[in-house]
Amino acid sequence: MDTTPIKPIALLGSTGSIGTQTLDVCDKLQIPVATLSARRNVALAEEQARRFNVRLVAMRDEAAARDLKSRLADTDTRVVSGESGVLEAAQYDCGTVVNAIVGEAGLAATLAVVELGRTLALANKESLVCAGERVMNLARERGATILPVDSEHSAIFQCLQGANGNKIKRIILTASGGAFRGFTREQMQNVTPEDALRHPNWSMGAKVTIDSATMMNKGLELIEAMHLFGVRAEHVKILVHRQSVVHSAVEFADGAVIAQLGTPDMRLPIQYALTYPARLPCPAPELDLAKLGSLTFEEPDLEAFPCLRLAIETAPRGDRFCAVLNRANETAVERFLRREIAFSDICGEVKNELSKLNQEVN
Ligand code: NDP
Ligand code: MG
Repeated sequence: MDTTPIKPIALLGSTGSIGTQTLDVCDKLQIPVATLSARRNVALAEEQARRFNVRLVAMRDEAAARDLKSRLADTDTRVVSGESGVLEAAQYDCGTVVNAIVGEAGLAATLAVVELGRTLALANKESLVCAGERVMNLARERGATILPVDSEHSAIFQCLQGANGNKIKRIILTASGGAFRGFTREQMQNVTPEDALRHPNWSMGAKVTIDSATMMNKGLELIEAMHLFGVRAEHVKILVHRQSVVHSAVEFADGAVIAQLGTPDMRLPIQYALTYPARLPCPAPELDLAKLGSLTFEEPDLEAFPCLRLAIETAPRGDRFCAVLNRANETAVERFLRREIAFSDICGEVKNELSKLNQEVN
């Protein structure tokens, strides 16, 4: 076993679902944390800063930063604010940077880390959806390493260990199906944010949970996979797998399919990105296949989940179209959560923005 001490990490989005689970892993493996960033959750940021004795905390929100500064006045922790503060936390001299910010807001940090040629553990899939070509080109140019944290992409990455340069024939990207798996379009007509936030298998932040309910999430992950693994959209097969145990799979030229399995717990992919290439004991529960009994796979219903169809159609059109898809979706999801639009309006809102771009381009 590799016993080299792990360098301190920088953790962006520390107060979120991925952020707190990352700290759980750091706790268990005694990985030091140099910097943290959040938007406005001061109470949790203070608790985390004290627990990990961090050097620097960035709060995106200025008022939150002022509050945190006075709360941490008795410590050596420096508090910075705004977008420049978040970038300072990202660029701090340390080992891996975990980007667990939600949404397009995470792109600037991704670019800053890649620009420095560092190692980025990337949960913020939106970075690759809205600027995948730019991010990957810059990573190649600067010699940066991007390690996936999203469970499906971590699974694909794990399946490729030992591939000995053999090319991917096909990726099988699995989807839980979200809160409305098996629903028809009509049945989703009057669903509320509370219904959509009730994910059957995973406990995650609000945005990604709604994206799972519309299945836009799987479309965003298709685009993420195309960039991370250099494959075309037609080489990614999306399958609904309700147990969320097969986290994804890779098929090679000879038809062999290599999959990664595990309990649905983000701590495993987070940990793998932090300790790669080493594998260490993980707090995630063990997989009990006999107890599970069976695993099922189905084609996704593109009629019931038009967001997925829209993302599949947009995926081959490059950064400019994917960025509009991503931004329009973020706006629509926020509006749905504020009850300004219906669940079934999300797709229409995104479609409208894409049509505007289409007209501009033609
Ligand atoms: P959460 O909403 O739980 O957490 C988001 C984090 O980002 C919080 O720390 C939040 O701070 C911070 N944040 C929000 N807005 C901004 C901003 N404008 N600038 C800087 N920081 C900001 O999200 P998740 O942890 O669920 O998701 C994070 C990313 O990981 C997403 O891209 C998601 O798609 C991806 N992902 C998540 C999974 C999961 O299991 N949760 C699984 C796979 C991928 P504050 O708390 O102060 O608002
Ligand atoms: Mg995922």
